[in-house]
Amino acid sequence: MRLSLEERFRKKMLKFGKKNKICRFAVIPVIAVGMFWFHSAACLKGNAKRLAVLAMTFLLFVVYSSFSFPIFIMGDGADNGLNPVSDEAQDVMLAQEAEIDLSDIELLDDEDVRMEGDEYMDDLHGDIGELYSASEILEASRRRGPQEAEQDTEDASDASFSKDDWRLVLINKQHSIPDDYVFSLGVINTMKGPMYCDERIIDDLGSMLQAAKEDGISLGICSPYRDQAYQEKLFARKIKLYMSRGLSYMEAYQLGSQAVTVPGASEHQIGLALDIVTLSHQSLDEAFGETPGGIWLAENSYKYGFILRYPKGKEYITGIEYEPWHFRYVGVEAATVITEQGITLEEFWEDL
Ligand SMILES: [Zn+2]
Repeated sequence: MRLSLEERFRKKMLKFGKKNKICRFAVIPVIAVGMFWFHSAACLKGNAKRLAVLAMTFLLFVVYSSFSFPIFIMGDGADNGLNPVSDEAQDVMLAQEAEIDLSDIELLDDEDVRMEGDEYMDDLHGDIGELYSASEILEASRRRGPQEAEQDTEDASDASFSKDDWRLVLINKQHSIPDDYVFSLGVINTMKGPMYCDERIIDDLGSMLQAAKEDGISLGICSPYRDQAYQEKLFARKIKLYMSRGLSYMEAYQLGSQAVTVPGASEHQIGLALDIVTLSHQSLDEAFGETPGGIWLAENSYKYGFILRYPKGKEYITGIEYEPWHFRYVGVEAATVITEQGITLEEFWEDL
């Protein structure tokens, strides 16, 4: 029966080939395929196990390859819901093919990272945003005793500035901290623990805090000095924050290193920068600039050698958003020139 069927098929095909000359060349392949199926059927006929194995293999093949079937991926937005794979498949395609436009994502700066995402606070053991109040610092510096008053001997009027002056060292994205930069870290012991900054600015800082206090402004200082390890922790936290917003590690790293201060490029690391707020407005945000404390600092800090380092409208020069709380010590003479001319440290530096 089987043989006769196969033979009949073969004969029919050959006859067909002789009649239709155009189809002559197709006859042999058709016969070959037909023979294959005849023999396969004969092989499986009456052998349930063999048939089951073949069926399973085919089924698995279909299931696995279905993940890449365009019909599932291309489905329109209003999915019929029958196919749970399709949504995931669509995401996969987006991740592979559509490049995420990183410029659309808001860059986080150090202050954002310190203020945001309380769930990551533990990583830094609460040393973020520790606020040292002015009265505490003044009290502590009084205990510290008067330092030799070697300052203010130079004449402010014919002050000549030099790029080598430690007070004028320029730290930004283009200028990282020189490898041979050394300074002695001054410690002010407060109730909240030790507060660190460059030892040479402590006296001027004390004078500024005292003057503000006399004008009825209670200043507080957070995170004055951060070492490399701290900056690295901050950087790691920044990456976590980006990842919590749906970015991959690589994207988060890329963005993290673009944003403000990669380790080694923060003024906080050389103890010359201070984040100053008031007890009544402790958050580091733009609104601080409108508070009496923010206004007082912007108007008076230069008298004590500090400048508002990242002013409004100069973002294109500093590369950093307006930060009404971030003050940088440059010495009274330079601070006076910079504040009077309304320029940034970058601009001041260019003319040196
Ligand atoms: Zn700062």
